[in-house]
Amino acid sequence: MIKVEIDKYSGFCFGVKKAINAATDLLQNGAPLYCVGDIVHNEAESERLRNLGMKVISHDQLSDINGTILFRAHGEPPLTYSKVIEAGLKLEDQTCPVVLKLQQRIKQAYQQMLKVNGQLLIFGKIGHAEVNGLVGQTDDQAIVIESINDLSKIDFSRPIELFAQTTKNPDELKLIIKEIELHSKASFGWHNTTCKQVTGRVPRIKEFAHLHSVIVFVGGIKSSNAKVLFHACKESNVQSHFVSSPDEINKEWFNDAVRSVGVCGATSTPMWLMVDVAEAIQKLV
Ligand code: SF4
Repeated sequence: MIKVEIDKYSGFCFGVKKAINAATDLLQNGAPLYCVGDIVHNEAESERLRNLGMKVISHDQLSDINGTILFRAHGEPPLTYSKVIEAGLKLEDQTCPVVLKLQQRIKQAYQQMLKVNGQLLIFGKIGHAEVNGLVGQTDDQAIVIESINDLSKIDFSRPIELFAQTTKNPDELKLIIKEIELHSKASFGWHNTTCKQVTGRVPRIKEFAHLHSVIVFVGGIKSSNAKVLFHACKESNVQSHFVSSPDEINKEWFNDAVRSVGVCGATSTPMWLMVDVAEAIQKLV
């Protein structure tokens, strides 16, 4: 019989768990609750909260609503705070403490860069909610580097301070640092601000992936940390498959040679979804 095991270290990180618990409590009290964008990059969990009454809105709709607005773990730029005050909304700020600290560090570093005609760089994904919140700390002047191919955006004759979006891959960050060090003709400071809640999971998930014949990784397609953690699984076990829901499981992954299946997920994947996936696999094997 094929054994199916769920990785006990997978599932929500503390920042996401805190925001989801706060939203669930507020919804249980029956208050009208709005969130700017999806609370988590996981469609199944977002749908669960929408069914409880949470409404997802865009920044443009802030002036049209009445009730409590929840800021998710990714954080928001200063402009969103101003809009909330202008609209007279009640704010439930669930920005992750790690992101909040990073916003403050970037704000301070940017002030320093202004004094020396320097540049503030953020290694991250353009348009990602967390990155928008970080760029907002610099009057939208930060240069966002998405990959090593973006280094032509930098003026190497001027000072540089580099930070990273919390969910970026630290190995890629190291390569970018090396490359900047090679070209920089002025001062260069860098800060590994990737979150230990994600990076700490890489060795653990690799170990878990190694223990099983097949891995079914559960994550949202929009989730950055799901990409990082799935990549780690794949490195450790080529028989790793990405699914967002139990319907995406393929029976052909579990042939006669398979002895055990590991189910794991991202920091944005709810445990209940991994349980649903494990149960669906158990019915197939
Ligand atoms: S991954 Fe880290 S920074 Fe992002 S929400 Fe979770 S704890 Fe906070």
